[in-house]
Amino acid sequence: MTPTRCPSCDHELDASTSMTEREVDPLPGDLTVCLYCGAALTFTTDGLRLLEPQEIATLKPAEREQLDRVRQAVLDRIAMEVRT
Ligand SMILES: [Zn+2]
Repeated sequence: MTPTRCPSCDHELDASTSMTEREVDPLPGDLTVCLYCGAALTFTTDGLRLLEPQEIATLKPAEREQLDRVRQAVLDRIAMEVRT
């Protein structure tokens, strides 16, 4: 995957940030979470864009649960780093 930047915090992201554990290039429409700011993102043909709130609302329950879990883990880690 071509390195790309988080549209929210501008950190460079690569495939290792993918929510799925697959070692394959993410497909457009796949979901991920920025490990630096917790933004919910979706892959496009040429990078990443923020997931719209109405898109999150229409995710399958299992997908939304996974997204929420990953975002919470990222936000917890960020909060911990701020404190230390
Ligand atoms: Zn970010």
